[in-house]
Amino acid sequence: MSEFLGKDRRTHYCGDLRESNIGERVCVMGWVKKARDLGGLVFVDLRDRSGIVQLAFDENTEKAVFEKALLLKTEFVVSAKGVVRERSSKNPDIPTGNIEIFADEIKILGESETPPFDITDDCKTNEELRLTHRYLDLRRPVLQNNIIFRAKVAKSVRDYLCDKGFIEIETPILIKSTPEGARDYLVPSRVHKGSFYALPQSPQLYKQLSMVAGFDKYFQIARCFRDEDLRADRQPEFTQIDMEMSFVDTDDVLVLVEGLIKHVFKDCMDVDIPTPLPRYTYRECMERFGSDKPDLRFGMEIINLNDALSGCGFPVFASAIEAGGSVRAINLKGYGDKLSRKEIDKLGEYAKGCGAKGLAWVKRGETDSGSFLKHMTEDELAAIYKATDCVAGDVLLILADSDNNRVLTQLGQLRVEAANRLGVERSGFNFLWVVEMPFFEFDYESGEWVAMHHPFTSPMDECVEYLDSDKGKVRAKAYDLVLNGIELSSGSIRITDPKLQAKIFELLGLSKEEAQVKFGYLLEAFRYGAPPHGGMGIGLDRLVMQMLGVTSLRDVVAFPKMQNAKELMTDCPAEVPAEAVAELGISFVKSEKSE
Ligand code: ASP
Repeated sequence: MSEFLGKDRRTHYCGDLRESNIGERVCVMGWVKKARDLGGLVFVDLRDRSGIVQLAFDENTEKAVFEKALLLKTEFVVSAKGVVRERSSKNPDIPTGNIEIFADEIKILGESETPPFDITDDCKTNEELRLTHRYLDLRRPVLQNNIIFRAKVAKSVRDYLCDKGFIEIETPILIKSTPEGARDYLVPSRVHKGSFYALPQSPQLYKQLSMVAGFDKYFQIARCFRDEDLRADRQPEFTQIDMEMSFVDTDDVLVLVEGLIKHVFKDCMDVDIPTPLPRYTYRECMERFGSDKPDLRFGMEIINLNDALSGCGFPVFASAIEAGGSVRAINLKGYGDKLSRKEIDKLGEYAKGCGAKGLAWVKRGETDSGSFLKHMTEDELAAIYKATDCVAGDVLLILADSDNNRVLTQLGQLRVEAANRLGVERSGFNFLWVVEMPFFEFDYESGEWVAMHHPFTSPMDECVEYLDSDKGKVRAKAYDLVLNGIELSSGSIRITDPKLQAKIFELLGLSKEEAQVKFGYLLEAFRYGAPPHGGMGIGLDRLVMQMLGVTSLRDVVAFPKMQNAKELMTDCPAEVPAEAVAELGISFVKSEKSE
């Protein structure tokens, strides 16, 4: 038995005590949230992960105990024993607000210096300071509850998948590169100087090889590492609910994942997600929402005006259409009153920032105003209004470009920006599948076709014939799960024919030799009987973030990194002694310390 705790053993968590415990003698342990000395009375709010309970000391308290209570300061760790009694002044704001513990024994288990910031949910301290003392930050109930909720989600996932016959397999962290389109984190080998391990961007090839090995259904709550420039919704390491199944086609994977989502939302939040989830092809998403991860909690769909404008004399529109591009609009229905000329100009600036040449607009009212009305005939305007169902009170935003994808993407971004600026009501959980993703995408920078997903994704059977002749036409057996405008996960049915896999490597610019060096083991494995298989990786961090309605990944990751990939609490990455580097057979040129 610990000498420190003596005979004390906790009987209850602080936040669990209720009126039903009145009269019971209990022992609680936790942190002092607040101690109030009111003369002959001392009240202490004691906090643990379950919540808060009030300890009371008064004129009936033994003198020695009362004096000890007077020593208590914020964040002291304390064990207290006493009898639960009804409070005289109740606090309806907390679940334990009707009771208190009349404490007759108290032990200080750990003292605390004054913390650098208030351990409260509404603490306004800057995030850097909080992350530097993350162990204190995590004491804040809001964060503590987020992390506990995350654990609940992970358990729920495990329960569901184990129930469905999935086997949890741990795949290695020190591996040969598995490409997912990002840069690898590399780990130098001391034993094999000059050689490097990569940290997995995902367990992709191991899960596929687990299928070749015959495990049939694999899952892992897997850590993935991608060395990318960080944005608000990225971390260099993140967690993925990684799955793979044998003898399946797209439909089987989607149905399984729908079941998983339904189960987890019900189990963890008591929310019913209606299934099957809607499925949209990639093309449809782009045409209607200008995005492959559309937020469907609001409308404002994109409308093609090419037919309405055929033969139009306005050069901006006419030249876009003639060049094979298009003129497209979104109708901000009923938002005319909310959009001043200045606001519309701001949207124009935003559109330019997205690469648009300029924003054409019309605001309909008693008299219509707009940026291009004088260039249009009455008939042309009438055709535009008809195509967009645009009436008094509406605002039309119009973009034109000789490249269809460009105009769609720009308008898709503008759609979301306009909704944000207008404060369009968005609530609930809107899931959808995006299927039939393109196999290749054209990289304007390099002028080359690159794989949209990883190179192990199978092309759709009917598209294989276009692999050489018309890459833009090749669709993949790939699918994304989108929630509220965020890509939650992606997956695919995989290639299992070694010849097709070799061909894809070749099309993606890998020579035979390179393919052999990088992925020879996979090509070889496929020669020994590979079952058809497919799977998915669901971003656990993003899922939890959406479930909790928080806007930063750092609110759902216990020990996150900053935007610059630094972990402030441990100050990592850190320099290492020169000998340690030399041992790895590495010498490096010291550059100015980057921040
Ligand atoms: N490996 C993929 C990813 O990490 C997911 C999958 O295809 O299963 O995005």
